[in-house]
Amino acid sequence: MSATSHDALPESVRALARADFGEVARRFTDAGFAVGLPARGVLTVRGAAAAEDRASVLLSVGVHGDETGPIEMVAHAIEALSREPSALAVDLMLCVGNIDAIAAGKRFIDADLNRMFRAERGDLAGTFEAGRADDLIAATAAFFEGAGARRWHLDLHTAIRGSRYPRFAIVPQLIEEGARNALIGWLGTGGIEAVIMNPASAGTYSYWTAQQHGAAATTVELGRIGTLGRNDLSQFAAMASALHGLLRGAPAGQADTAPIVFDTARSIMKLSDAFRMAFGKDTENFTPLSKGEIIATDGDTVYTVQHDEEFVVFPNPDVRVGLRAGIMVVRADR
Ligand code: ZN
Repeated sequence: MSATSHDALPESVRALARADFGEVARRFTDAGFAVGLPARGVLTVRGAAAAEDRASVLLSVGVHGDETGPIEMVAHAIEALSREPSALAVDLMLCVGNIDAIAAGKRFIDADLNRMFRAERGDLAGTFEAGRADDLIAATAAFFEGAGARRWHLDLHTAIRGSRYPRFAIVPQLIEEGARNALIGWLGTGGIEAVIMNPASAGTYSYWTAQQHGAAATTVELGRIGTLGRNDLSQFAAMASALHGLLRGAPAGQADTAPIVFDTARSIMKLSDAFRMAFGKDTENFTPLSKGEIIATDGDTVYTVQHDEEFVVFPNPDVRVGLRAGIMVVRADR
C-alpha cells in the first residue's frame, strides 16, 4: 500500500504529502503575499514589502520519506495559517524533502537524503537523492539571500528507534551564541527534552543552512515513526503550539523545563565492511555506556567509551562505509 493512499487522510495532509501547495498558495496569493514555487515540493511565502526585521523561517519535513508525523503536523499548521493568512508574521519557506520516497512509503529511493548536504559526496554523487539535494540547496540559497538577520531552519523528523528522551534536537555548534540560545529556549517550549550540540557536519540539511546561510538551524526528532494518517499527533502537540507562535511572530514563551544539553564526545565512523557495533540498531537513543565499554570494532580500530558515562545516539551499523554509524554524547553540565 502506498503511504498516500490512506482513505481517512484529510485533504490537507494528502496534498502536502504530494507536495501539492495549490490551495494554500492561492490563499496566500489572494491575501497579497509574494508566493513562489522555486522547486518541486518547495513553497515560499513572503510579505509583499521587504522588511529587514521580518524573520525568515524554513520548515522542512519528509527529508526521510517514512517519517510522516511531521508532514501531518505541518499540513494542519499551514492549512490553519492559510485560512488567516494575515497572521503570518515571517517569511516562510516550506519544503517537502523526499517527495518520491514519501510516495513510495520508503525512507529514501537510493540513499539517505540527509547525508547529501555537503560539497563532496563521493560514491553518493550519482544517486537520486544527490539531485534532489541540489534542488533544495539552490532553493534554500535563494530563500536566505537578502534575508534579515533572524534566520531559522527547523528540519522535522521522527526517530526509527525508541529514545530515553523521545523528543530531542541536534543543534550545530557553529551557530552564533545568542541565536543558538534563543533556538534552544524555543525548542524547550516545543517540548524538546534534550539537545545535542554537533561540532561537525554529517551532511545534514540543518548543518548546511547553519554553515552556509547563518541560520539558527536544527534537526528535530519528534517521537516515533508512524504511518501517514495514523500518527499519534498528541506527541507533537507542544511543537505544533510553538510553531503556531513562531509563524505568527509571538514572543517566545518560557519552557517549563529547559532541554538538557549534551556535547558530542565523538562520531563513530564506519570505516570498512568489517565494522561491528557492540549493540544493534534497535538500541534506544541515549542508552548509557560506562568508561572502557566497547562501542564498535572496525578491523584494527576499536572504539571504547572514554568518559565516565557516554550515551549512544543514532546507532546504525548498516550505514554505508564512510558514513556516521552513531554519535556518543556526554552531559554538557557534568
Ligand atoms: Zn529522519
